[in-house]
Amino acid sequence: MKNFVAGAWIDKPKKIEVTNPFDNSVIDTVPRADAGDLEKALAFAERGAKVMAKLSSYERWKILRKAADMMAARNEELGQIISKEEGKIIAEGRGEANRAVETMMGSAEEAKRLHGETVPLDADPTGSNKLGFTLRVPCGVVAAIAPFNFPLNLVCHKVGPALAAGNTVIIKPASDTPLSAIKLTEILLEAGLPPEGIQCLTGSGGEIGDALVADRRVRKVTFTGSREIGERICRTAGIKKVTMELGSNSPVIVMPDADMEKVATVLAMTGYGNAGQTCISTQRVLTAKKVYSDLLSALKPKVEALTTGNQLDEKNKVGPMVKESEAVRVDEWINEAVSGGARLVAGGGRRGAIYLPAVVADVHPDMRISRDELFGPAVAVTPFDTIEEAIALANDSIYGLAAGIFTDNVEWAMKFAREAEAGNLHVNWGSQWRVDLMPYGGLKDSGFGKEGPKYAVNEMTELKMVVFHLNS
Ligand code: NAP
Repeated sequence: MKNFVAGAWIDKPKKIEVTNPFDNSVIDTVPRADAGDLEKALAFAERGAKVMAKLSSYERWKILRKAADMMAARNEELGQIISKEEGKIIAEGRGEANRAVETMMGSAEEAKRLHGETVPLDADPTGSNKLGFTLRVPCGVVAAIAPFNFPLNLVCHKVGPALAAGNTVIIKPASDTPLSAIKLTEILLEAGLPPEGIQCLTGSGGEIGDALVADRRVRKVTFTGSREIGERICRTAGIKKVTMELGSNSPVIVMPDADMEKVATVLAMTGYGNAGQTCISTQRVLTAKKVYSDLLSALKPKVEALTTGNQLDEKNKVGPMVKESEAVRVDEWINEAVSGGARLVAGGGRRGAIYLPAVVADVHPDMRISRDELFGPAVAVTPFDTIEEAIALANDSIYGLAAGIFTDNVEWAMKFAREAEAGNLHVNWGSQWRVDLMPYGGLKDSGFGKEGPKYAVNEMTELKMVVFHLNS
């Protein structure tokens, strides 16, 4: 596939190979953009911002709405691309493609809802004869930097609201999974988006990322990815708006009154979906001592039933990780925990890029599989005595993206809602649940700013205050 830069599809002799992680076969290649391509994109974007700012709300709605309809009609094609380049099972690929439609549809709706408000200036003793109101205006040029794990929907969460708000966007997809973002660019252009509205540049983040982020022509950076790169971007960006959607090691608390069958069924989904490569994947299962062995007995068969293999084979429940080196890393972390005294209750070990879904018990909170972001198909189970201890363990993390509790006790659930340090909290579910309209984002080192079209359009605009100084 090609890049879309300065209004044209371009190719380059230098390529990045995009592979299917199941068998390492090359699915396609994309250009490896360099500093020259980036400069071209930035210069064009500066002009593009002016074109986009002139589109009416209705025109922006129409384009996004049409793009959403086209994506719905092409669900199977998009699902296949996602699944092949990322490794998630085909049902999850189709699911992501469906969600992306909702994200674009929600963004289209927000294009019609952006508004300012009148401000009662005469409520101030010096404010008589003043009339004030706010105007929401686009930021201008938005750099949208996306991770590998949801290569379509997370790009839509940036591009949809940015276009709804009247910006021009430069997409920098992850190098492992750039194809879905290029397809989205194609669809948006076909839906009538002016070529000035979008550019998609594939290339190594390490090579072109700093220059993109630091450039003064870029007025907004929206980033989803790892904490390490997020921190680097915050330092490099300088004075501009920034949104950070970063990682996590999400905890789920299992209280003694929980329905163990339900807990096990849910955890087998929320800890292992997309081979654990979801930012809100359940990683730490904090379990009341009273039901500790019940939890392990209920969870083990459910996790062992997660068949692994080719992600395109409908019978498999867990596909390969995005690349073999990731499965090697997960294996190392789990082996390290087991050497340190933790117990492998189910799964473990790898075949190529596939890591066999694992349950690791007796995990000490200081072990790497508990403390850092594992981003793989395994959960770390740790016992506790009281709800106070459980919440303290849950909060003992630099991250704060999502958390869950299983209990029917209202007092416990409310204590959790008030005290757990995470941006998304779930009662009687695991940490991994999201619909695309809700405000979504982390606390602490999991980032700042919210996605979800209604919230993201605010992040993609600036607010101006206008005051009329009237004579009477
Ligand atoms: P990553 O390694 O941080 O990469 C994310 C993006 O940043 C890629 O496009 C990458 O390009 C680019 N990049 C690398 N260096 C850069 C630089 N110096 N300047 C600008 N951009 C740069 O993350 P990942 O491995 O793709 O994704 C997994 C991470 O994303 C996990 O930590 C996960 O929790 C997090 N995540 C968070 C959310 C959320 O909503 N909070 C959602 C999904 C994922 P290359 O690919 O070319 O290196």
